[in-house]
Amino acid sequence: MELADFLSALKEVRKDQVVVTTMASAREWPNYSDGPLDLNYAPSSMGQGPALGLGIALARPERQVIVLNGDGCTLMNLGVLVTIAGLRPVNLVLFNLENGVYEVTGGQKLAGSGRVGFTGVARSAGWERVYEIKEAEELRRELPGILRGNGPVFINVKLVARPGPSPKPRRPMPETLRMLSEALAAGSAGRQAR
Ligand SMILES: [Mg+2]
Repeated sequence: MELADFLSALKEVRKDQVVVTTMASAREWPNYSDGPLDLNYAPSSMGQGPALGLGIALARPERQVIVLNGDGCTLMNLGVLVTIAGLRPVNLVLFNLENGVYEVTGGQKLAGSGRVGFTGVARSAGWERVYEIKEAEELRRELPGILRGNGPVFINVKLVARPGPSPKPRRPMPETLRMLSEALAAGSAGRQAR
């Protein structure tokens, strides 16, 4: 599946969740959504998406937080998988976007590409809800249920590699953070019943 297939499917089901993006997902997600609840953390945050999402999820337990993380990002900060599994934030959803390359640095082959099994890594780190999705149709069918259930949830999504440039922030990062902070302080209707 293409990254665009994944992002458009997510946009269709996304409600008032925070969406944290870094690296390649940060380059593309603003084309789908660029509001106060989109923490488009660019340009320099490889591996930090899950930790950013965890912090928000713990601080705002009424709000679901969706993190889009590249496979290279996940490998760069594997320890955070153990931290999240240990803290068990029910409102955190982590998508691992597996395309087998370091996309924004030129498409170099991922360390361990073709050998590492991300769902196995997540399970061994202590995650109980773990999915792997390969096809766009399967993704559209499964996404609503994935977002309804309690987290933390790890979803490995198999993607075609499309190397491209590094993301450029659409506004200064302090402004992005101020917008998110104000939106979170304004509250939400609460998480959907699960
Ligand atoms: Mg990648």
